[in-house]
Amino acid sequence: MDKGKKRLFILLGMASLLVYGAVFGAIWFVMTSASPAVRHIAVTALAAGFVMLMIAMAAGLGSLVLGLLFGSGALWTQKLGRGVVELFYPMVLRVGQFIGISKEEIEDSYIKINNQMTVAAGNRFRPEDVLVLAPHCLQNTGCPHKITIDVHNCHRCGKCSIDGLLTIAEDTGVNFVVASGGTFARKFAKEYSPKAIVAIACERDLTSGIKDMNVQQIPVVGVLNERPNGPCHNTSVQLCKVRQAISYFTEA
Ligand code: SF4
Repeated sequence: MDKGKKRLFILLGMASLLVYGAVFGAIWFVMTSASPAVRHIAVTALAAGFVMLMIAMAAGLGSLVLGLLFGSGALWTQKLGRGVVELFYPMVLRVGQFIGISKEEIEDSYIKINNQMTVAAGNRFRPEDVLVLAPHCLQNTGCPHKITIDVHNCHRCGKCSIDGLLTIAEDTGVNFVVASGGTFARKFAKEYSPKAIVAIACERDLTSGIKDMNVQQIPVVGVLNERPNGPCHNTSVQLCKVRQAISYFTEA
């Protein structure tokens, strides 16, 4: 199974290399061997393709900026905006890191843009269709209760944010689970089939989770956890931010 997957990746890599080689070879051939008339047509076609690509990207960025400034806009502009964010993300990450901006800052910005687009879309759901997904590192490390199996195993001692999150879930009627990693988060997302998710995590996990859910077209509002004791250890979350995130999905 693993071997097959590796082989597939290597084959796809070789195929990509062949495609790049063929495109480069064709351009090289046209530029060096073809008649001036064919060269002229090729250069014009290349320039036109490049201009069209730039126009499409500029239109997408424009619709994203307008959406962020003035609200949701039409469904197609929302989709275009999201598409542009996903398309630009790898490039933005590289450019940002090249000029000395940390990956965490860029991820933070991505999460904020995602949240604003999700809120601007204005979709409302029944509370039971909303899932609050929290990371295991919120639980106090001295706590013996297995809350990842069932969050109601929490004894509500108030030593960590889980107690407060349970209160919020009871007050609002949303589902609430604690996942011990990305795989379990995806498992819960499958099990509960939520129509919207409020995800609590660090920048890295929120970014990858939002991307995953974008593919499945499940809107996510991300709430960053706080890490006064360092990453993945006795973290906490501002409960008012979680309540607010839930209200985006459930209150008219
Ligand atoms: S609030 Fe719940 S999860 Fe947190 S330490 Fe107390 S019993 Fe454990």
